[in-house]
Amino acid sequence: MARRRDAVCDAGHPPMAGRSGADYHRRVMDMTPPADAGNPPPFEIVPGDPARGIVLTCDHAENCLPARYGTLGLGPEALARHIAWDPGARAVTLALAGRLGAPAVLSRFSRLLIDPNRGRDDPTLVMRISDRAPIPGNLAVDETERAARIARYYAPYDDAIARTIDGALATGTVPAIVAIHSFTPVWRGRGRPWQVGVLWDADPRLAVPLIDALRSPGDLVVGDNEPYDGALAGDALYRHATRRGLPHALVELRQDLIADDAGVEDWTDRLAAILTALDDRPGIREIRHFGSRTGPVSPI
Ligand SMILES: [Zn+2]
Repeated sequence: MARRRDAVCDAGHPPMAGRSGADYHRRVMDMTPPADAGNPPPFEIVPGDPARGIVLTCDHAENCLPARYGTLGLGPEALARHIAWDPGARAVTLALAGRLGAPAVLSRFSRLLIDPNRGRDDPTLVMRISDRAPIPGNLAVDETERAARIARYYAPYDDAIARTIDGALATGTVPAIVAIHSFTPVWRGRGRPWQVGVLWDADPRLAVPLIDALRSPGDLVVGDNEPYDGALAGDALYRHATRRGLPHALVELRQDLIADDAGVEDWTDRLAAILTALDDRPGIREIRHFGSRTGPVSPI
């Protein structure tokens, strides 16, 4: 199959980086729903402690595709690229979940199949062209196929996040939602200066102190809504945090920095220490609605 040899969806997972190790691996597999007709289930859950006050998500964890879609007409090089997934993000998410004892929800399908970090009506939900590369298997996607991908992959992952947040709220603790992503060090021929970016919309409660803490040692170039703007109506944090009034931030890590175990460990250390220090920040354990820079929000 044209996919990274270690990005295995249908034959078990590679060993995890970080200290969480086999115990978390086993728990992940225990909680993951059974595969459907030989295809990998569309998400995995690390149960963690629902009262921990943090829920981690990883929208672009893997670059694999259900068997029925083959490779979407792409070669192995294309599927290994950032257009298919966020390399390193899954390893950081799992290691961070282990370190913090926090629940995590991770997708198990390539963003090229359908992007769970887009709204259901977003024109880029199923990309026909990504970073100038046409996606042959997406060129003829019609409304029926789009609805099928939503039902089989997008919605189950989305529901898993909602249920995990519900479980956290049921403990009486308002969780902060932290989405882990990674970005390519070079974009269209230009190097990117940031090692890490924090994306956010209008709720500053987690994002601003997170940026301050990352900048504090003075050894990092930290993007504030770079390399992307975090205000995107319908994206995953909009759906699960902005609309619910939950504190949140999206963390973008540069892919070359989390390409091996040492890098994953380093970023797990940094983020775990900072997120733990923010646990008791005033206002972080409250449901509060800050709206969105994108326009009116319908709270849920
Ligand atoms: Zn991403």
